[in-house]
Amino acid sequence: MLNLIFFGPPGVGKGTQAARVAKHYDLVHVSTGDILRIEIKLKTELGLKVQDIMASGELVPDDLLIELLENTCDKFKGANGFVFDGFPRTLRQAEALDEMMERKNCKVAKVIALEVSEDELLRRLVNRAIEQGRTDDTADVIKNRLIVYHKHTKPLIDYYIKQGIFVEVLGVGTIDVIFTSLCNVIDNRY
Ligand code: AMP
Repeated sequence: MLNLIFFGPPGVGKGTQAARVAKHYDLVHVSTGDILRIEIKLKTELGLKVQDIMASGELVPDDLLIELLENTCDKFKGANGFVFDGFPRTLRQAEALDEMMERKNCKVAKVIALEVSEDELLRRLVNRAIEQGRTDDTADVIKNRLIVYHKHTKPLIDYYIKQGIFVEVLGVGTIDVIFTSLCNVIDNRY
């Protein structure tokens, strides 16, 4: 089983690359943001609970996310592995993921961080707001999402450095160039 975490701030390109990597290695792409957006669209109980939180750029409570992740992974029992995109975002989520992996007798092989400058991030987030019309991509919310990332998610870098599985990949260039760099890292060719 090959399990990967795509790590980095909002707008760094995790979603695009995670989807492509998942397809290439025949893994299941688990984007918690995408799952939550579908729940909101379908107006489920969970969707109604999280929509205001998401629209403000804050994090959805850990308990909800951990349950959501476990249920999602359980749906793909025979999978070759998972590409986690947007999870974990807090230390509590990272620990819960480790516990889940241990229970299933597997582990996270690599945590791959895409590296992009803050200026480039803002530019991409503003473009995405225009192209996709995401309600959490307004200027104020973008700012808040970056603050939330620095406060709650960035500290996970140390957690994964200590586990010896943290790697950085330059997230600048064409989608193809970044994808090739990612494959080199995943296949241990770097
Ligand atoms: P994303 O599409 O990954 O940028 O996620 C969009 C929004 O969904 C985030 O700003 C959070 O409000 C919520 N969300 C997604 N994943 C998580 C997570 N792992 N923990 C808490 N909130 C999350």
